[in-house]
Amino acid sequence: MRTELAPSLLATPEGRRADEILRACVHCGFCNATCPTYQQLGDELDGPRGRIYLIKGLLEYPDEPESVRIARTHLDRCLTCRACETTCPSGVRYAELLEIGRMRVEDGTHRGLGARLLRRLLTFVLPRRRLFRVLAGLGRSFRWMLPGVLTSHLPAGVNTRWPVPVARQRRVALLQGCVQDALTPQVNAQLASLLDRKGIEAVRVEDESCCGALALHLADQDRAQETMTRNVVALAAMVPDVEAILSTASGCGVTVKEYDRHLAGHERAGEAKVVAEATRDVAEYLREFQFDKRTDVDRVAFQPPCSLQHGQAITGVVEDILRGAGYELVAVADAHLCCGSAGTYSLLHSGMARTLRSEKLRRLTAARPHVIATANVGCQTHLGAGTNVPVMHWIELLR
Ligand code: SF4
Ligand code: SF4
Repeated sequence: MRTELAPSLLATPEGRRADEILRACVHCGFCNATCPTYQQLGDELDGPRGRIYLIKGLLEYPDEPESVRIARTHLDRCLTCRACETTCPSGVRYAELLEIGRMRVEDGTHRGLGARLLRRLLTFVLPRRRLFRVLAGLGRSFRWMLPGVLTSHLPAGVNTRWPVPVARQRRVALLQGCVQDALTPQVNAQLASLLDRKGIEAVRVEDESCCGALALHLADQDRAQETMTRNVVALAAMVPDVEAILSTASGCGVTVKEYDRHLAGHERAGEAKVVAEATRDVAEYLREFQFDKRTDVDRVAFQPPCSLQHGQAITGVVEDILRGAGYELVAVADAHLCCGSAGTYSLLHSGMARTLRSEKLRRLTAARPHVIATANVGCQTHLGAGTNVPVMHWIELLR
C-alpha cells in the first residue's frame, strides 16, 4: 500500500512503525473472511482492510474531524481479536497499527460525558485487584439490584484455597490477574495444586499490578504504560528465582509477552524484555506433563480464546493435554471466531457481544458436550452467562 504520512509524523517512532505496517498491506481482503464484525455487519469499514484504510486516513489527514469521528465508530467496533493477523498472508501487524490508530482517535475527538465516565470507571476499577475483589463480592451479595450485563460476569462462590506452600527446587511465578483474581480465583488455586503434585512450587507475585491490557484496549496509553512499568518492576525481580512466569488468563499473557514492544525506548525496556521472554501461557508449560481427569464428564468442547490462538499463536496444545487426560474433544465449527467477550468489549458493545456469544455457543454446543472449556477469564464468564452448559477453565478439568 502506498502511503503519504506527514513528515512530522514520520519523525516519530510510532509514525515510522505505522508507515511500515501500512506498506505491508497489499489490500487483498483475505482478512475480511475471518473478521467477526465484517461477517455480522457486512460493511467494508467494519472489516480489517477497511479499518486499515481508516487508520491510514487518520495518519495522512489528521485535521479532518469528520473523518476522525467516522474512524472512531469503526475502530471502536473492532474486537481486537486478531483473527485478521492469523489470516493475513503478508504478515500485517494489525493490532499494533490499531493501537496507534486508536490513540490518534482519542487525541482528535471528544467523547460524550457518559462514554467518558464509563471508560474512566472501567480503567479505574478493573485494574485495582483489591478494590475489584471487594466490588465483585458486593455484586454477588446484591446481584438482584444490578443490571444483567454486570451480574452475568459474577459467578457464585468457589473454592480458592492454594496448597500449603512447600519450598521446592522447581518454582514458577503465577500471574494472578486483576479480573481473574476476583471472578475465577479457583483457576489459579487449582493450578497451584496441580503443580504441587508435580513437585513444583507456585509463587504469588505479591506486588503484581494490572498487566495493562484494559487501559491499552481503551487507548489510555499513559495509564497502560504506568501499570505495565509497575508490573515489570515486580516481575523482573522474580525472574532469577523461577523457571517461568505463568499466566492462566490468555488475555493477560499475550499482553505481558509483548511488554518489550509496549515499553520499547522506556527506561525499563531491558527489564520489560526479560519479563516478556520469561512469560508462558500455562499450556506451554504444562505440555510436558501427564494429567488425569478431575471430573466424571467425558465430552468437552474447547473454545480457544483469540488471545491464545491469534495473539499467542498457541493452537492444539490445550486440546492435546485434555485428550491425554482422557477427555473426548468434540468438533467445534469456526473455532477461529471471537465469542464477543474481548476485554471490556462485552460491557461497551453489549449488543454485538451478545450476538457473537449466541453464534459461538450454537457452534460450541452443537455436538452436545458435557462441559465447555476455555483459557481466559473474560471468555469464561461471558460464555457462562449465556448457557446452561457449565463453562470452565480447562485447568479445572485436570488433576
Ligand atoms: S489480508 Fe493482510 S494484506 Fe490482505 S488486506 Fe488484509 S491486512 Fe492487508
Ligand atoms: S481484530 Fe478482529 S474484529 Fe478487529 S478487524 Fe481484526 S478480525 Fe476484525
